[in-house]
Amino acid sequence: MINIAIDGPSGAGKSTLAKMLAKKLGYIYVDTGALYRSIGLYMFDSGINPKDKDAVIEALSNIKIELRFENGTQKVYLNGTDVKDRIRLPEMSMYASLTSAIPEVRAFLLDIQKDMAKKNNVIMDGRDIGTVILPDAQVKIFLVASSETRAKRRYKELAEKGIETSYEEVLSDIIKRDENDSTRAVAPAVAAPDAVLLDSSDMNADEALDAALKIIEDKIR
Ligand code: C5P
Repeated sequence: MINIAIDGPSGAGKSTLAKMLAKKLGYIYVDTGALYRSIGLYMFDSGINPKDKDAVIEALSNIKIELRFENGTQKVYLNGTDVKDRIRLPEMSMYASLTSAIPEVRAFLLDIQKDMAKKNNVIMDGRDIGTVILPDAQVKIFLVASSETRAKRRYKELAEKGIETSYEEVLSDIIKRDENDSTRAVAPAVAAPDAVLLDSSDMNADEALDAALKIIEDKIR
């Protein structure tokens, strides 16, 4: 199977790029952030403080997460319910960021990710795909962009979905999450030594797609 890992900070355009690549190459796109967001959502709904490590770990035993692909689109089922829309609420970003720093949460989601990649050609995006989840991926891309570019994109995305927020709020959320995600002790969002760095600050989606396809061709052929 061919495995392509795309890592990088929030809002760098990983999911847009990964979706376009999956379509172009006929691979399955696996959005691992959705798994962490689903864990965050469970804590939110259960009134569990995402910073309360013991309570989060204890709650994991009540959670069943399934990844399904329906019409080529990923669906995450949290205890049997499709949580696709609710995991996109801005609060869930911080819940996911806080709970994902707990090693037990990462271990809980390890097999589901590895299994997917073992059975399918995948483009998987996240923070630790190239370093921890798929260290043997044939292609690893670390996608970056300036925080302002990322905040602008994320703000537009949320506005299109009708989710109310301000640019300033999105920017400060991105800076806070970067800090959490890149400095945590377990699986920090850092590039694997064999990852290719791609800076999309001054690229539109099509340009980023072309650049990524070049990287993939270089590695696979
Ligand atoms: O990618 P997305 O913004 O949906 O991810 C939400 C949060 O989940 C991130 O801020 C990060 O803390 C966490 N995450 C992670 N590892 C991944 C994917 C996401 O820790 N592979």
